[in-house]
Amino acid sequence: MALKYSSKINKIRSFAFWLIFLGIGVMYIGLVFKDTSWLMATFMILGMCFVGLSTVVYFWIGMLSTRTIQIVCPSCEKPTKMLGRVDACMHCDQPLTMDKSLEGKEFDEKYNTKRYKKQETQS
Ligand SMILES: [Zn+2]
Repeated sequence: MALKYSSKINKIRSFAFWLIFLGIGVMYIGLVFKDTSWLMATFMILGMCFVGLSTVVYFWIGMLSTRTIQIVCPSCEKPTKMLGRVDACMHCDQPLTMDKSLEGKEFDEKYNTKRYKKQETQS
């Protein structure tokens, strides 16, 4: 069975969400070692690193969002954002494409890669 494809931005967003969760978890572990100050400090710093990284990822989503194309999903008729030539609807995971030549073809992440674009311009 093929893996369910989900929107890229949704994927990155859930990654950032879990990073915050992980960071808080690690900081919480630090509290367990509050009698050993260096160990607690290590966990606290590590936890803050995860939270900091998550902030970077959220910032990256913001950057990516400026390059997305707003369209209305033909399947659920909600407005969604597309990143790249192929992406999935943010609401119903309906595969979407900007390229007429790719319509009807099997949905594949490879259509977003540079190598594929190069092959296509040569032919
Ligand atoms: Zn949809």
